[in-house]
Amino acid sequence: MASWLPDTSTSLYGIIGHPVSHSLSPAMHNAAFRASGTNAIYLAFDVTYLKGAISGVKALGLKGLSVTIPHKEAIIPLLDEIDPVAGRIGAVNTVINKGERLAGANTDWIGATKALEETIELAGKKALVIGAGGSARAICVGLADKGVKVHIANRTPEKARRIAEICDATWSGLEGWEDIDASILINTTPVGMAPNDKELPVPANILPRFECVMDIVYSPLETALLREAAKAGCRTINGLRMLLLQAVAQFELWTWQPAPVAAMEKALRGTRT
Ligand code: NAP
Repeated sequence: MASWLPDTSTSLYGIIGHPVSHSLSPAMHNAAFRASGTNAIYLAFDVTYLKGAISGVKALGLKGLSVTIPHKEAIIPLLDEIDPVAGRIGAVNTVINKGERLAGANTDWIGATKALEETIELAGKKALVIGAGGSARAICVGLADKGVKVHIANRTPEKARRIAEICDATWSGLEGWEDIDASILINTTPVGMAPNDKELPVPANILPRFECVMDIVYSPLETALLREAAKAGCRTINGLRMLLLQAVAQFELWTWQPAPVAAMEKALRGTRT
């Protein structure tokens, strides 16, 4: 690849969060800019003073941002417009600088539903979503918009109820597995994440009933849940696919050009060697 250096017309993008040192987004987006020949660079900003950071985006003319924990909700009142789906989710993970206006969007739901659609048809299906945190919220709204009937099961049932209200889902605590009718299972909890990589978010004996199992945990890549699901004959999707496809959607919102998906995937996998 020809060498590339920033110059006075280089566009600046970045991720804001706290902490951000673990983020895999700079690797993916810089690879995308280089592969597409875009004169742009993407940096990580560890931000605690959010209001100041957003003023800085406008003042310095950053073209776009990824937004991660803990700023996804707090950023909403600081932006000039919010995409309706991000508004329903109540979280923004993408900012697009439209010149005079900063627009907020959410691509987590796009990444999750596209990852599923690569493997199965969604419309008319039933899904069991385990967990009711930030990512579950985006995934449940995305699934409902694709015509999936969702049941949310969470350790704290009240949080499942709150998500159910925005996407016409049913909800429960972590029990009554035998009564839940679904062909898709999605784990959105950190259960199974290293170093607790032997843990399962659901009992293994319920897995054979699912056509497809997706785990959004990506460390390890093959979680105990996905290993057991494969043994039970389910089709499986690992957490890297959602991570990649939400970044692909960000690149396309920022640049209006098709994302170089293979280069982004190669960079993402390279972060894990
Ligand atoms: P979050 O907002 O903190 O929500 C975590 C959810 O998991 C909560 O509902 C929590 O239950 C539940 N939970 C936590 N520990 C549990 C346990 N031991 N047993 C049962 N339930 C438990 O987190 P998040 O931002 O949604 O992220 C969740 C996971 O997804 C993390 O591992 C993160 O790395 C991963 N993730 C992956 C992607 C991707 O693109 N692949 C994107 C975002 C996040 P309570 O409500 O009872 O506390």
